[in-house]
Amino acid sequence: MEIELSYTWPIIPKYKVCEHDKYGIRQNHYVLFKQRAHSGFDITADYGTEVKSIARGKVICTGFDGTTSEGLDQFNMGYGNRIEILNDDGRRCVYGHLSEIFVKDGDYVDNNTVIGKTGCTGGSRVPHLHIEIRKENTEKTGLDYTINPLEILPEFDFSKLTLEFTEEPYAQLWKKMNSPTNPWEFSEGDVWYRENKEYIR
Ligand SMILES: [Zn+2]
Repeated sequence: MEIELSYTWPIIPKYKVCEHDKYGIRQNHYVLFKQRAHSGFDITADYGTEVKSIARGKVICTGFDGTTSEGLDQFNMGYGNRIEILNDDGRRCVYGHLSEIFVKDGDYVDNNTVIGKTGCTGGSRVPHLHIEIRKENTEKTGLDYTINPLEILPEFDFSKLTLEFTEEPYAQLWKKMNSPTNPWEFSEGDVWYRENKEYIR
C-alpha cells in the first residue's frame, strides 16, 4: 500500500529564486561554470536558518559528502554537510550545504522537526539549502532518480519574493580559496566572470 505523506517546506523561502536554483538542467553551474543537471531545488537563506524535516521519516545518513552525480569531485565538493532521511513513503530526501546537523542515524523525525541549520558547505557560494527528493531509497542522484521538489512541496507563490540576497556573492567562495585548506587547485584569478552578477549561485 502506498502511503500518502504530507509534505511541508524545510524553511520558508525569503529571497528571490533565480534560474540556478531550479530543478533541471543548469546552463552554468554555480561553481563549475558549465552545463550540469541540478537534482534538487535551492533555497537561498540567511546563514544559520533552522532547517526542518519536510516529512515524517527516519534519518539514514549524516555528515560531509563531497560526491556529485559524477562521483567524488574535489572542485565542486558536492553536498557538503548533509542529512539524508528516508521518508515514510519510501522516498529519500537529501538536505545539503548545512552548517550544523542536529540529528543522527536512526532518529525519527516528523514534519517540522528542526534537523540542522543552513550553511555554505560543499559546492556552495552563498548560504542556501539544497533540497533533493529521490523517487525511492537510492544513493543515486541525477534527474532520472529524483523529482522536482516543487511537485511535492505545498504550493508557494515565489512571485511575492522581492528580497535579493545581499551578501557579497563570492565572499564564501573567496574565503574557501584563500583558506589554508583550499580544496581546489585554483585561486581567485582563475575564475572567470567573477564580476558578473548572473553567476551569483
Ligand atoms: Zn542545489
